[in-house]
Amino acid sequence: MRRLSKLVTARPRRPGRSDVIRGRLHPLRLCPLRIRVRVVGLVMAMREGSRPRLCVMCAADLDGGPAYLVTGGLRLGRRWFPRQLLVCTSCYASGAPDPVTGLSRPLAARQTSRAWWAELAGRGELLPPTPCIACGLVVVRRAESLLRGVTCSRACRTSLTRIRNGGQGSGRPCGGCGQPVTSGRADSAYCGGACRQRAYRRRVADRAADRVPDPVEELLGAATPFVDGHASGISQALYRALYRLKVARLRGHDQAALLARLAAMDPGRVKVPDTPAGRRLRVALRGIRPA
Ligand SMILES: [Zn+2]
Ligand SMILES: [Zn+2]
Ligand SMILES: [Zn+2]
Repeated sequence: MRRLSKLVTARPRRPGRSDVIRGRLHPLRLCPLRIRVRVVGLVMAMREGSRPRLCVMCAADLDGGPAYLVTGGLRLGRRWFPRQLLVCTSCYASGAPDPVTGLSRPLAARQTSRAWWAELAGRGELLPPTPCIACGLVVVRRAESLLRGVTCSRACRTSLTRIRNGGQGSGRPCGGCGQPVTSGRADSAYCGGACRQRAYRRRVADRAADRVPDPVEELLGAATPFVDGHASGISQALYRALYRLKVARLRGHDQAALLARLAAMDPGRVKVPDTPAGRRLRVALRGIRPA
């Protein structure tokens, strides 16, 4: 008997991180989803401008020398996503069209397993090396008709829209406390997280107060365990009336006679079990009686 229970409870052990450390398992045999999350997190961290900033092709440190902003793509998991990327001087020189003949280089010179690039960002003339407005990294790119300032990345562009008005807020009254908003973005509606949460709670409460409870709706809801479910113990007459009311409502038939019959039943004396569902049904029956 004991041996049998051992057989039932013994399960094959799943490979884990300790097997990788001891060299029993190749790292890629681990859960692919977990690895993918880690890779995506690494790519995001690199893209969001955490130091040091690296060339997307050769992983050289970009601080110091000029970085070339190019259009291209990043592979996240199995899919490629269009992105603007930063490459170092030597990677740009080996992938850009030949300066003497003007001939383009093969794609292999501009591609790795997780990134590729096509050309300098922008469609206008070549701009002189310009420091990124937000972080100061010197960037080489082409002009663009609507370009308002040279930034090196999406993260720097976002931080720029936040600091452009000096973090002075919108000056409009806060949706939570009513005081003028004097900090944050130029379109900020609240002075802080506490006021945003307070306004949200108020909206939810207002919505709940606007809903007028329908006594017939409540009666059908209370009758559901008895009509559709397995609850029992109500009188045959009450069951029949509730069932017919439900069907009439579903089909859009006239419900006045059925409601009058239910309202005529005495909620204090009708046979209903003494359970939470039964008590709710009794209260709902009281609710449809004319005052
Ligand atoms: Zn490089
Ligand atoms: Zn920047
Ligand atoms: Zn406020």
